[in-house]
Amino acid sequence: MPRYITVTSLLNKTKKRDPWFLDDYTINPYSGCAFNCLYCYIRGSKYGINMADKLSVKADALTLLRRQLAARAAKQQQGIVVLSSVTDAYLPIEEKERLTRGILELLLEYRFPVHIITKSPLVLRDLDLLHRLNENAILPPDLAKYSHRAFITFSFSTIDPVIGKQFEPGAPDPSLRLQAMQRCATAGLMTGVSLMPLLPFITDTPEQLARLYAAFHEHGARYVFPASITLWGEEQADSKQLVLQAVQQYYPQFSGYYQQLFAQHTGVPTAYNSALQAAAAAAAAPYGLLPRIPVE
Ligand code: SF4
Repeated sequence: MPRYITVTSLLNKTKKRDPWFLDDYTINPYSGCAFNCLYCYIRGSKYGINMADKLSVKADALTLLRRQLAARAAKQQQGIVVLSSVTDAYLPIEEKERLTRGILELLLEYRFPVHIITKSPLVLRDLDLLHRLNENAILPPDLAKYSHRAFITFSFSTIDPVIGKQFEPGAPDPSLRLQAMQRCATAGLMTGVSLMPLLPFITDTPEQLARLYAAFHEHGARYVFPASITLWGEEQADSKQLVLQAVQQYYPQFSGYYQQLFAQHTGVPTAYNSALQAAAAAAAAPYGLLPRIPVE
């Protein structure tokens, strides 16, 4: 039986729009995430090592959301809603709960544009609604130049199924995400990739990046957001401990580098990051893949 929790707000107004995700609002239908990525930034003692155990469904979410959307729409405050920022809106539980589908129906009714960020092909179930949102939603005035109103971003740290299982043990196989992206592109929706976190030495070498970008292009991506990893926490359930353990177990040859990289800092050094961004730009160039959602 899923756990149900009561919340006081579903539609969260962001303080500042992120240039990648274009988020004016976020909605998280679930609390926690069953995909259990080791690097997940929501990790910590709140959800434990197996985050699927603490997964909760937000009860009465749709009633609450209708009120919040109606109030915003009455003031013509439609903006891009990101689904989701601290969970995945298409977890296996969504097949039965259909909460995300209910949210999309409300977004359509109140004409809010949407940006889905997911690791799951279950998003294909809702292509009918996403098409209608793409036709009918109202963009905020400063984004009116965009010709799409529904954006679907697939999240990857790798396209290698073995590495995927090591670092994203509960998530759908990357090949299923690639196929789903292809279907979204073929259906005429704006789709691309959130390529984060890239794993130092494991998935971020120039050869790996060349393979990744070729596959994304082949499967219909129009844009790719590349970023390295951020790790923190000294407790057992924290992302830093879990990723360092996995590197020690599967890639002992890189374990010393990881210990060094993350001994004092949560992220990779500036020079490392600059080199990574340059390598990603070089891998993107042959395909015209942009590091931002294109306007047209
Ligand atoms: S899919 Fe996203 S929210 Fe879920 S565990 Fe992975 S990184 Fe965290």
